[in-house]
Amino acid sequence: MATKSKPSITIEKCALGSQNRFEAEEEPPGETVTMINPEDKPPSSIAVSGYDALKCVPTSTWKDWKWHFRNRITNVDQLSQFIPLSFEEQAQLRLVTMRYPMSVTPYYLSLINPDDPDDPIRKQSIPSILEITLGMMGCEDPLEEKRDSVVPGLVHRYPDRVLMVLTDICPMLCRHCTRKREWRNGNWVRNSDEIEAMVDYIRRHKAIRDVIISGGDPLTLSTPHLEDIISKVRSIQHVEIIRIGTRFPVVLPQRIDDELCAMLSRYGPIWLNTHFNHYHEITPEAAEACDRLVRSGIPVNNQSVLLRGVNDTVETQLKLCQGLLKIKVRPYYLFQCDEVQGTEHLRTPVEAGIKIIEGMRGHTSGLAIPTFVVDLPQGGGKVPLQPNYALSQTKEELILRNYEGRLFNYRNPRGLSLRGNGYRNGRRASPRPRWPLGDSRQLVLPVGAVDADRVVVRS
Ligand code: SF4
Repeated sequence: MATKSKPSITIEKCALGSQNRFEAEEEPPGETVTMINPEDKPPSSIAVSGYDALKCVPTSTWKDWKWHFRNRITNVDQLSQFIPLSFEEQAQLRLVTMRYPMSVTPYYLSLINPDDPDDPIRKQSIPSILEITLGMMGCEDPLEEKRDSVVPGLVHRYPDRVLMVLTDICPMLCRHCTRKREWRNGNWVRNSDEIEAMVDYIRRHKAIRDVIISGGDPLTLSTPHLEDIISKVRSIQHVEIIRIGTRFPVVLPQRIDDELCAMLSRYGPIWLNTHFNHYHEITPEAAEACDRLVRSGIPVNNQSVLLRGVNDTVETQLKLCQGLLKIKVRPYYLFQCDEVQGTEHLRTPVEAGIKIIEGMRGHTSGLAIPTFVVDLPQGGGKVPLQPNYALSQTKEELILRNYEGRLFNYRNPRGLSLRGNGYRNGRRASPRPRWPLGDSRQLVLPVGAVDADRVVVRS
């Protein structure tokens, strides 16, 4: 990140003491130490200099994902080159990062409006003092993933699916991460013996038909290393599909290069689940990455997390989900933010998610509406939550509410056999039941239905 003006930035690569066989690939691609002198300039002009430096990065360098990875912003001195920070804010950030580290790619940083303290990209990537002042709320491992680990790195909770956690390294450390507990354990990548143990377990359990490869972020591994693992999983006959969970298309889309896509296309069917949370993340680079994946035969789904002050309005979710469809990414899940220590300030009441879905339904294509789910504590699994559209139900009929709040009677079919259902020889034998609402449709106004698209939901 060369720049003529101060602050100067130098890069020092740290060779990893990795146990894996791909050291020649320098995996992950090194670490950065950025040297600045905070005395150089007052914070705001330093920040302007930082963004100027980003603009000066040559296009070929900007397209190099390893350059972004090596130049991640990981400490307060580096950050203050880009974002105006008071001395109090700097002190708070130093305190937070002692417990919960920071890592932001230059690409993702470039999406932040440095003058907006409430910027949705900033809230996802820059630590907040609330991570420790509210730090006693929640649990370290609310989903109890450790309990369900059958061999190190392999979680087997549902009969036909397993989760392979290959590494705890991510290009960006998202402030709402469910696996925040892993951040203190140092950077690790599963070694070849551990991978063999996972593959062996999958091979011996024939009910497993779906393997989810996740992390950390599995795409921090080099493409040859990833291919080595994927090819082993693919060689198991009873494995039908492989899913990859990654945030690279959002935080470092340059990683989705031709080499990676060509490799993935050899081991299909592979599905890729990514994690856009705000429409500001849908950039030309991100769109190009998703397009490259889709053209390589890899469907892309989105799993977003509902975050206070980031995407907790109907308007934001509509823009996000409609924007995703435009880049051929299907909105799949909207997760209630898990009860993880250090994330309380970003969590919303469950009602917020339900009201957002209610505000979207009917106002946009069903394809643009994700399923709102709560991942239950203690490994209870995912529960979808929906607005209630069925106001009453008997064996004969339901009273249903549509998105405008209008009520409708709906005759409830009783299966293929028409006997004993008011029918004889396929014809209705008894008079048609009298609909409680009569023939005219009544307009009622349930709370939250009307004008729900304009509701801003905050607790
Ligand atoms: S990419 Fe996923 S695993 Fe990595 S920090 Fe973000 S939320 Fe956590």
